[in-house]
Formats: sequence, structure tokens, C-alpha cells
Amino acid sequence: MNESLLIQPSLAIPEHLVGEVQSKLAYVDEAIRRAVVAPSGDQIEVFLFHPVSSAEAAHIDRKVQQVVETMAKGAFKPKVQILEDKLDIATPYQQDPMEELLRRGEISQEAAGIYTLGPLITHLMDYFEQHFIELADSFEAAPYRFPTLIPAEYMERVNYFRAFPHSLTFATHLRQDIDAIDHFAQHAACEHGVLKTPPDSFAGVQTLLSPAVCYHLYFALADKHLPNGQLAATAVGNCFRYEAINLTSLERLWNFTMREVIFVGPKDYVLENREVARQRMQRVMAETGLAYRIESANDPFFIGEFRKQAAFQSAFQLKFEIRARLPFKDSTLAVGSYNYHQDFFGRHLNITLPDGSPAHTGCVAFGLERIAFAFLAQYGLDSAAWPQHVHEAIYG
Ligand code: AMP
Ligand code: ZN
Repeated sequence: MNESLLIQPSLAIPEHLVGEVQSKLAYVDEAIRRAVVAPSGDQIEVFLFHPVSSAEAAHIDRKVQQVVETMAKGAFKPKVQILEDKLDIATPYQQDPMEELLRRGEISQEAAGIYTLGPLITHLMDYFEQHFIELADSFEAAPYRFPTLIPAEYMERVNYFRAFPHSLTFATHLRQDIDAIDHFAQHAACEHGVLKTPPDSFAGVQTLLSPAVCYHLYFALADKHLPNGQLAATAVGNCFRYEAINLTSLERLWNFTMREVIFVGPKDYVLENREVARQRMQRVMAETGLAYRIESANDPFFIGEFRKQAAFQSAFQLKFEIRARLPFKDSTLAVGSYNYHQDFFGRHLNITLPDGSPAHTGCVAFGLERIAFAFLAQYGLDSAAWPQHVHEAIYG
């Protein structure tokens, strides 16, 4: 019986893919508690929730090998483009803020990836959000409110199921059947946090929990002409991405909050505004004191889709991430992104410009919990040590 497995991938994982492969190993088998890819890429250690037989171990090995092969075979290192580099800004704090946040009752965990946030983080999120709202206002972006639920039909239309199946969260309800509802009412009970109820009590899945904000705007514009040929909009919303065993701290949440500024129109309009947004944010980032870098990036496409889609995104410079420094682990965390989708949504959702061509779209997206977390990781929980601008804006 094995409680951990040492796997030699048949193909060495290139250095730039080590993190991507490691995050996907979370979805390989339910027995996996943690998976660590050696930085050299030639060894994977897999820790399990419970001992497995050698046949089961061989099965896990095979699945891991397949992930590595699919993601790494023929992969080439994308050229990382750096647009701003302020990673070396001196910041005073070195600890992981999680422990202190939990100890002070500033956060409490309801379940993996689900946290209640107290006043400290709430103030910080509001502070950052105020800046994002000012950014939106500078474009005269129209304010929107979007639902948390999102229809499966639309998600299918934009190929979401193929690109990100692993991170979906489904929303359903009991069938409108008195016997099923009565049975549920009498017998529903949780076992180890899992609701035990016959699967056929539930209706078919028509809706999911939204993984992003801007999709709702594109869905609202589907099968229509864009009235003025261009549109800037903004909204904040709850977003959901199931990240399995990667949901370990405020860094990676199942349920998080995103503020987006969204541009829809001709190609030049979208690209220019994405760039203007980045330039306007430079001053804001300086005021907040955050150490960060802006670099080209790709979305976390699922295994089979990864190589082609990631290469496409980097070849066309479709995504840039604001990556804030996490001093306690000597790494960086994406706190926001500047995205250009070309005419992908325009084509798939039939959003047309006055000349009949498909609209282009782009968005600037900020993760509010993440930016507050990165700030605390750099400046600590004691507001006296924060940059003056932040301290004064929050506490006067
Ligand atoms: P993306 O659309 O993937 O570029 O996401 C936009 C922003 O949302 C990221 O830069 C993060 O700040 C935030 N974000 C994405 N996924 C998560 C997550 N699982 N937990 C917390 N924040 C997230
Ligand atoms: Zn977006």
C-alpha cells in the first residue's frame, strides 16, 4: 500500500510549465491530496488522502503521465513580455498573513476556498475598488449589475465547457416533484460535509455559478447590433472557479469578487482602451505601494486545450497579468489582468458593429480579495506600517 507516489514523467516538464502542470494534477484523481513537481521538471511527488494498492498506484501514474504528455509534448517556451516592473519596491513585511488573519478573527474559513472576511480586508477591498471605479469613470463606463447565476446554454456557445471544464460550479435545484421534495425534506443530511441525497432528486443543470463578470455583458449583447458601435461598461460580481486541492488560502478561492471594466467595439477601440487603462493604473499602483510586475500570460486552459490555446494567447498578446509580489514565498500572484479577446465573443455570440462585422471585446479585471491579500503580504496587518496614502484613505 502506498500513501505517496514518486513519479518519473516519461517526458521532462519544461521549466515554464512546471506550475501549470502542478495545478492540473489536482484534477487527476480524487485520492490526490497534494502534488509537487520538482522545479527541474523530471520528478513528481504525489501525496494521497489514503493508501492505495499497487494497481491503483499504477492507474494514477498512468493518468499523471498522460497529463504531462498532453501538456508538455512539443511545447515551446513563450516569450514573456514585461510591460512594467516594480517588483523591487521595498516592502516591510515577510510573513504569510494567513495565520495572523485567522488568529485575529479577521477571516474565518467556511469551507475550502470559501472565507468570511472581516473589517480589515473589507476596508482594503473597498479601498482598491474605489480606485477601480475611478478608472471605470475615467472611461465613462456604464455601470451594470449582473446575476451570479449564468445559463449553461450561453456558456456552451462560448466554448467554456471545452476550455475550463475543471473549474465549473453547477447550480441546480430539486425537481418539481412532490415525492422528490418530500423525500429530500425527510432524509437530507450531511456526511463529512457532503449532502447525501439521491442524485435523481435534482433537476438537470440549466445554470452555473458565474466564473467571470464580462461574460454577462456579452450575453446581454448577443444577436444584436451594438447600438453606438462601441461600449465601455463596468460591474463587480461574485465569481466562482473550483480549484480543488489548490484552494489553500486567500490566494486561491472558490468564491471571489471581481471588478471589471469592459470594452466592446472595433479592434482599435478595444486595444487602445486596454492600453490606456494600463497607463492610468500605473499611478494608482504607485499610490498603493504594491510591488508588482505586468507580464504577458495565458488563461489556465484545461489539459487537452492548454497547449494550443496558451500558445495562441501569447502569440497575439491577448493577456497581461498584474502580478504582485508575495515576499513570504518569494513568488508572485496575479491580482488583475488586461485582456483582449479579439472578435471571439463577437463571432460566437453574434454581436455586430454598424458595418455588420463582429465586435471585438476586451476587459480589465481585478480580483479584490487577491489584491487585498497581496497588500497584506507586503505590508502586514498593522496599518501604521502601510503607505500613508492607503492608511489615510481608510482610517482618515
Ligand atoms: P482572470 O480572468 O483569470 O484573468 O482573473 C482575473 C482576476 O481574478 C485575477 O487576476 C485574480 O486577481 C482573480 N482571480 C482569478 N481566479 C481567482 C481565484 N481562484 N481566487 C481568487 N481570485 C481569483
Ligand atoms: Zn473579463
